[in-house]
Amino acid sequence: MLTTSVLSGRMQPLVLDLPEATDSQPASVGIDTSHATHIVATEYALLLGDQRVSLSAQIGRSIRLKFLGQRTCGNCQVSVDKLEGGGYCKNCFFSLARCDRCFVSPERCHFAQGTCREPQWGESFCMQPHVVYLANSSGPKVGITRQDRNFYRWLSQGAVQGMVIAYADTRRDAGLLEVAIKSKISDKTNWRRMVSMQPQNLDLLQLARQLQTSIELPAGTRWVDQMTSHDLAYPIQSHAPALRLAVNEVTPELLDNLQGIKGQYLLLSQGAFNVGAHVGMTIEVEFAPAIDAAKLNSSDQLDLFS
Ligand SMILES: [Zn+2]
Repeated sequence: MLTTSVLSGRMQPLVLDLPEATDSQPASVGIDTSHATHIVATEYALLLGDQRVSLSAQIGRSIRLKFLGQRTCGNCQVSVDKLEGGGYCKNCFFSLARCDRCFVSPERCHFAQGTCREPQWGESFCMQPHVVYLANSSGPKVGITRQDRNFYRWLSQGAVQGMVIAYADTRRDAGLLEVAIKSKISDKTNWRRMVSMQPQNLDLLQLARQLQTSIELPAGTRWVDQMTSHDLAYPIQSHAPALRLAVNEVTPELLDNLQGIKGQYLLLSQGAFNVGAHVGMTIEVEFAPAIDAAKLNSSDQLDLFS
């Protein structure tokens, strides 16, 4: 466990620990008679380079984030002025299969045509069993993920409910079913709603049954017979205002109180900080006792740490 109060390194997506997973659910989670399970994201960690900073224990304290001016590619480690999506340099972005258009739109998978950018990677990630799920992050949404990854996926999206509704042989098959469902249910999360409120509970089971009677299954997919609805909870003292907070060249430093964590967002008293949008940037992080709200709103807030 790291005890230093100031740490810096290349920012990576937030990680969270789940109980050891078996089949499709964590081992320590029981199923009650209503087929609902409750999963709590208890341990969140921030990765700065190879340092792991436990976040859950810092909720209720202040956090200072400072951009140190460097951006590094997550694949080739080269320093660049601008990073593409996922924290990769331009060269890697146009050569890695995980950055190809077909990864975001799996129905465009071209593995079968022999044109996958990295066939071996495609074999081990895309040509594997996937699931199609319904989740509730800011309202109902549909999504896909690799089998056994659904809990991580839901928690990293900030979903409060999730349910696997179909199995698919490959990512492409799952993508084809997702496209069919997208005509009825969005595949997007409204981040402003997600960070600022607990959404209304949805009857995912009823929604899934409606889909099952109205949608024709593509080849390589099948509905789940016994669907289980899962409730997901986050370490949150209070939600954040629906404002985007960031550090960059123009505003390199941010100081606020950490009120909670949901998905890839740090919920702060003045807005939400999307860790995912800062991946690849070298960031300095410092935790300290909570700051008085009146002091946070004053213009000389950064002097508190100088
Ligand atoms: Zn690179």
